[in-house]
Amino acid sequence: MNWMNRDQQYIMNTYQRLPIAVTKGEGNYLYDEEGNSYLDLFTGLAVNILGHSHPYLVQKLEEQAGQFLHISNVFLNTPAITLAERLVKETFPGKVFFSNSGTEAVEAAVKLIHKWKKQDTDEKDGIAVLGNSFHGRTLGAVKLTRQENVYQDFPAADYPVYETAPEDLEALERLFQEKKPAAFMMEPVLGSGGIMPASRSFLEGAAALCRRYRVLFCLDEIQTGMGRTGELFAYQHTDVTPDLLLFAKGVGGGLPLGGMIAREGLDTLFTPGDHGATFAPSPLSAALGNAVLDVLLEQGGLEQGKENAGYLWNSLEYLKVRSGGLLREVRGQGMMLGLRLQVSPEDVQRIQKQLLRRGFMVNVTQQTIIRLLPPLTLKPEDTDAFTGALEEELLKEVSIHD
Ligand SMILES: *Cc1c(COP(=O)(O)O)cnc(C)c1O
Repeated sequence: MNWMNRDQQYIMNTYQRLPIAVTKGEGNYLYDEEGNSYLDLFTGLAVNILGHSHPYLVQKLEEQAGQFLHISNVFLNTPAITLAERLVKETFPGKVFFSNSGTEAVEAAVKLIHKWKKQDTDEKDGIAVLGNSFHGRTLGAVKLTRQENVYQDFPAADYPVYETAPEDLEALERLFQEKKPAAFMMEPVLGSGGIMPASRSFLEGAAALCRRYRVLFCLDEIQTGMGRTGELFAYQHTDVTPDLLLFAKGVGGGLPLGGMIAREGLDTLFTPGDHGATFAPSPLSAALGNAVLDVLLEQGGLEQGKENAGYLWNSLEYLKVRSGGLLREVRGQGMMLGLRLQVSPEDVQRIQKQLLRRGFMVNVTQQTIIRLLPPLTLKPEDTDAFTGALEEELLKEVSIHD
């Protein structure tokens, strides 16, 4: 029986899987059983920041694997200590809590926020979030995820959540006054919400409101972090500093790793017994995390990523002009882009399928937004191949509908 049939027989059906059995990943490309190659423009959903099988990462992985794969949290985890130290030095004074995934990073933040509001004298409770946000799928985090098809009617953990519209500082202030939430959590760029970047003035205004009303300002950088937007973390494009910063996805170089950085003053709230995880932080993941930081910060990876993103943006803007209105908008930041097409959801699906047939993997979110999460290593020739193929597919749309 083929892989697709076996997948359907033995693995629960929680993703719309493509019938591609990947046998190898190298650089910016994935290869399947039949020898087809695919330019990977969504990098395992913002995970493979440096493409596949990066030789330096593989070398560091092998080194760590030859030492130890797993130890308990009762011992000193040297790769994790090094990674935490570097993350703090690259962001703001505080401490790290590590988890295995993004949703667990959110869960940890929910528990830390709860401890903070209990010791704070104000009458505060709950967390404010933006409409269309995505913060994870476990029961605590899913409640913060304001997309109906994700949260559905699953029984969510019992704490108040208040939804407010993106870009509306007045509504946010009213919410702070009326509901007195303990924290405000947001993505600097709404990811699965359709690649909607927050404006700099909203981010800075929200941070100022949080300070004024003593509300913890929590940035979910699970998708935007690790150089994705051009800085190591997206908030570093602005003057704000969050109280809590959540990371995951790209941080483990392809292995499961997530966590949060809590600023000084919040970083001693957790004490032994408050929280933990058997596997996190995996020494393997932490070693890869250090390797990713080496490449981004010491081997010029971040700068190269910015250049590569600039080339991609220029090419797409140029395509937009030529597309006769079919490509309505290119939005996002750095290597996190949403292409808004002036076609129906069915047409977008057809374009996605056609691109896949031609060897380009793209993601679609919010039905009509093509989401690109390319590796920072995307070369100009990769961009040219992709924009050329996309232009041809857009032209076909014109002829189909003529
Ligand atoms: C992916 C994502 C999460 C959840 O991370 P998982 O590792 O899938 O649990 C949370 N927040 C944002 C912004 C994300 O993009």
